Amino acid sequence: MTALDDFRLETRAWLAANCPAGARGPGPVSNGSTKIRITDRDTLLWLDRMRERGWTVPNWPKAYGGSGLTKEQYVVLLEEMRAIKARPALSSFGTSMIGPTLLEFGTEAQKLTHLTRIARAEVEWCQGYSEPGSGSDLASLRTRADDQGDHFIINGSKIWTSGAHHADWMFCLVRTDHNAEKQKGISFVLLPMNQPGVTVKPIRILSGESTFNQVFFDNATASKTDLVGRLNDGWTVGKRLLQHERSGMESLVSGGAGTESDSLVNEARKSFGVAEGRIADAAFRERLLKYEIHNRAFRLSQRRAVQESDGGTPGAVTSIFKVVGSELQQTHHDLQLEMRGPLAYVPGDPDVKQWLFHRAATIYSGSNEVQRNILAKRVLGLPD
Ligand SMILES: Cc1cc2nc3c(=O)[nH]c(=O)nc-3n(C[C@H](O)[C@H](O)[C@H](O)COP(=O)(O)OP(=O)(O)OC[C@H]3O[C@@H](n4cnc5c(N)ncnc54)[C@H](O)[C@@H]3O)c2cc1C
Repeated sequence: MTALDDFRLETRAWLAANCPAGARGPGPVSNGSTKIRITDRDTLLWLDRMRERGWTVPNWPKAYGGSGLTKEQYVVLLEEMRAIKARPALSSFGTSMIGPTLLEFGTEAQKLTHLTRIARAEVEWCQGYSEPGSGSDLASLRTRADDQGDHFIINGSKIWTSGAHHADWMFCLVRTDHNAEKQKGISFVLLPMNQPGVTVKPIRILSGESTFNQVFFDNATASKTDLVGRLNDGWTVGKRLLQHERSGMESLVSGGAGTESDSLVNEARKSFGVAEGRIADAAFRERLLKYEIHNRAFRLSQRRAVQESDGGTPGAVTSIFKVVGSELQQTHHDLQLEMRGPLAYVPGDPDVKQWLFHRAATIYSGSNEVQRNILAKRVLGLPD
């Protein structure tokens, strides 16, 4: 037996003994926000146990709250979690976006402060990138940060800020040099949301919910110790964070619950009935099968790309994951709604809400058209 086999057996035994029944299959997952209270006992117990073991962020170094798993061990852990349909204990903008970015670009002090709080599920973050008038052309952003010695004073506005209403901190792109070429005058700062200069206004979306907001800065402050990377070099940091976001690593982890596809197949069996052990509607069965094959191939490709890359998250190629992943999500919800037939169109139906929400998947974290431009230029090397 290799050391990795030993690790698998130990992990399997630990998960069997420690993952409560209520943390398997669909259910709540903490994002660390101090403004959201999770009351489900098993979810809280699971979070406690995973946190203690450093498995809220298994591949981060122990010094920052992780357990320092190697890439191979991390894959084993995900496989074993998936086998028992264990949900991740923690899933947040902290674990998927700002955390990996700070691991690469943060100072030691930033890592010790912010990464450990993320790992312990004590904080949730939001992403202050888009502004009114600066979406795909993000480098045209105008929110300004003025140097005041040991801190910056920030004025301007961000829009479409997901989860700003329950975030404790924001990672934010700000303009710090107004004369430089547009990408070169941007800095990447971290700021607490709970301060007098920050106002959050919810935006209602098509599904009737308010998952995102406009955020206004009126003399808000960010400490100089929370400048990530060099002054005016925030574009480099900000782009890398987007690669972490687009890689869909988070979905690899949350795929542990393994319920998405199971639920589609089970639902199709109920909706169309079963003939000779197969979903009775042949045309639907074929479409579902096609989706399943694409979905599995996609997840395997994601894993392969991560295994092949040295730093954990691949570079510009992550745009492929963004494009394919978002289109697969939409197909999933199209199929789900179709199965429900006219019954789906009941006001407030959760499946309809999900379907509406996933219309946005080809827009957020950079629209798919823009991802295709990135792939053409940066991966295929095609001319502008
Ligand atoms: C649900 C949701 C959550 C979001 N959450 C956040 C968040 O938390 N933080 C944050 O900062 N932002 C967030 N956004 C904003 C998101 O990043 C932007 O919506 C996105 O980058 C597109 O920008 P835009 O909306 O200004 O559209 P525009 O840039 O105005 O684009 C309009 C259309 O033109 C197309 N287009 C633009 N430029 C090109 C080009 N060069 N070539 C081809 N086509 C092009 C686009 O694909 C799109 O179809 C979120 C958006 C959504 C929908």
